[in-house]
Amino acid sequence: MTVSDGTLMVPLSFSLPETPAQEAIALMQAQGVPSDGAAVPANVTLVKTGDQFVLIDAGSGPKFQQTAGKLSENLEAAGISPEKIAKVVFTHGHADHLWGVIDDFDEGERFPNASYVISAAEWDFWTHPDTPSKAPDWLKGMAIGSARILKLIEKRVERRKDGDTVAPGLTYVATPGHTPGHMAVMAESGGQRLFIGGDVFNNNAVSFARPEWRVGSDFDRDQGVKTRQRMLDFLATERVTLTGFHLMWPGQGMVERNGNAYRFIPI
Ligand SMILES: [Zn+2]
Repeated sequence: MTVSDGTLMVPLSFSLPETPAQEAIALMQAQGVPSDGAAVPANVTLVKTGDQFVLIDAGSGPKFQQTAGKLSENLEAAGISPEKIAKVVFTHGHADHLWGVIDDFDEGERFPNASYVISAAEWDFWTHPDTPSKAPDWLKGMAIGSARILKLIEKRVERRKDGDTVAPGLTYVATPGHTPGHMAVMAESGGQRLFIGGDVFNNNAVSFARPEWRVGSDFDRDQGVKTRQRMLDFLATERVTLTGFHLMWPGQGMVERNGNAYRFIPI
C-alpha cells in the first residue's frame, strides 16, 4: 500500500541543472507530466508481512517543507496507528525519507515500537564528521539534520548490506548514486515482486525516456545514471512492478522498452 507524505517543491533548475530547461519541459509536456516541479509526490510504501507493518521510509516530518510531513495523519486515516509500525526500512538519509521518524515535538520517536534498518554505507556517510563540510551547499544543512536524527535513533538501528533480508520478504538492493549507500527494496510474495525504488527514478517522463540526464540531487551524478540504466534494463527484462517515491501518485507501474530508452506505464 502507498501512503502519501504530501508533496514537495522541487524546481526544475534543481532537479535537472545540466539540461536546457526548454528541452526538459518539452519532454515532460509531451508525456503529460507536470513540468513546474511544484507538487512532486512523496509516496511512502507500507508493507504488511505476517501481522507486522513495515514502512519503507518515514517521510519528512514537519520541518522540511510545509506541504509534506503528512504521513502520520494519512496512516491514521488508513486505520494504522504509529504503535503498529514494527520496522522502518530506509532507502537513504535525505530529509524527505528520514526526518519523519522523529515526532512533531522533535525529540521522541514517531513510531514507538519500531526498529530501523539503513544501509551500512549510508550510515557511515551521514554520520561521518566531514560530510557537512564536503557536501554541496544545498546538502549542508540537510547533512547536519540527518546526522542528528540518526544519532537520536542509533540504539535501534540495524545496518545492512546489498542482498540482506531486511524484514520477512524484503531484500536490500544496492542502488548507489543518488546517495553513496542508497538502497532499493525488493518485496516478494507468492511469486510476485515489487521493486520499491526510492529515488532511483524521480520523474515519470525523464527517468525513463532520458535516464542519461544527470540529476541535480544525485550525490554522484554519473553513478546515478549507471544505476538508473542498470535497473531499467532489469525491470523491463524481468517484468517487475516498480513503485517510485517521487513518481506521480500512487507511483506504481511497469517499465517498458521504447526504442533505445524506456517508458513508464502507470497501473
Ligand atoms: Zn527523495
